[in-house]
Amino acid sequence: MTTRLVDATPKDPVDPALRPKNLDEYVGQERIKANLKVYIRAALQRGEALDHVIFAGPPGLGKTSLAYIMGEELGVEVKTASGPTIERGGDLAALLNNLEDRQILFIDEIHRLNRAVEEVLYPAMEDYEIDVLIGSGPGAQSVKLPLKRFTLIGATTRTGLLSSPLRARFGIQCSMDFYTPAELERILVRSAQRLGVEMTGEGARELAGRCRGTPRVANRLLKRVRDFAQVEGKGVIDLPLTQSALERLQVDRFGLDGMDIRILRTIVEKFDGGPVGLTNLAAAIGEEPDTIEEVYEPFLIQHGFLQRTSRGRVVGRLGYEHLGLTFRPIAKEKEQEELF
Ligand code: ADP
Repeated sequence: MTTRLVDATPKDPVDPALRPKNLDEYVGQERIKANLKVYIRAALQRGEALDHVIFAGPPGLGKTSLAYIMGEELGVEVKTASGPTIERGGDLAALLNNLEDRQILFIDEIHRLNRAVEEVLYPAMEDYEIDVLIGSGPGAQSVKLPLKRFTLIGATTRTGLLSSPLRARFGIQCSMDFYTPAELERILVRSAQRLGVEMTGEGARELAGRCRGTPRVANRLLKRVRDFAQVEGKGVIDLPLTQSALERLQVDRFGLDGMDIRILRTIVEKFDGGPVGLTNLAAAIGEEPDTIEEVYEPFLIQHGFLQRTSRGRVVGRLGYEHLGLTFRPIAKEKEQEELF
């Protein structure tokens, strides 16, 4: 079975305890935090609702956490919904109509809202009103229903999939980055304290370097390593224990898991190193194209294991080296052939 370190199932049940509660506990994303602090202060001083905000970035980077923190900092309640679960315009209208002044509506996976629902959002975001249809048939009348001044916070793993009219209505747009090992170390140290498990500096450093720049992965690995420490070790997460536990979890020294390796290996072995289209690749490894694109690829691309070209995915030099193979820049030759 292929190990999946990151997966498409979004939230982790143990996470609430580890979720940062305010901007000071929220590690990293410094530029975003600094700007948000200004916007929050300005909105509070004016007594207004904060402008609508969109957070974009791969899963597990802290978009939901930040949305809750915004509620905390603004002193308002955060109501939550998820794009795919809002099926009809009426469902969204009801959610919006129930919002109090300055409250936040957080919509996760907002790129997965259907068109009809999205249309309800436009006047709501822009003019704080929704069009409600009264009656049916030829006598039906459209009435404008005013809403309280609210803040919409959207989270998306794919800015590219957000329709441009929707994107344009977010006054504050934040693109989240992967975390540095030093930031992940800070997150891990805090999480270990919360979980009541002892961890050495070396153990934390090792884990931080192997969690794909992603806090959710860091916390998930920490919980598993803690199990090994408790059952097979002396209860302390130190360097040797971390290394052996990660080996057992099939997480390699770069933090790649079984599925990452499978993606790279499949492209090399079945598609000559690429380029291969996403759909073909997905079929070859038995994974959803969306999951490959949203969950696995961003980290592989950022670190040069994989490249995305106009003709498909290509394994990069680092990808070959990581598989213990000699780099074959076949893709370039193929691209040349195409040209002539
Ligand atoms: P997303 O919504 O982007 O998928 P979440 O906000 O659900 O990500 O974050 C996943 C988990 O990672 C959180 O529950 C929290 O424990 C941890 N986390 C995320 N970002 C941070 C951060 N900046 N500082 C500390 N912990 C974080």
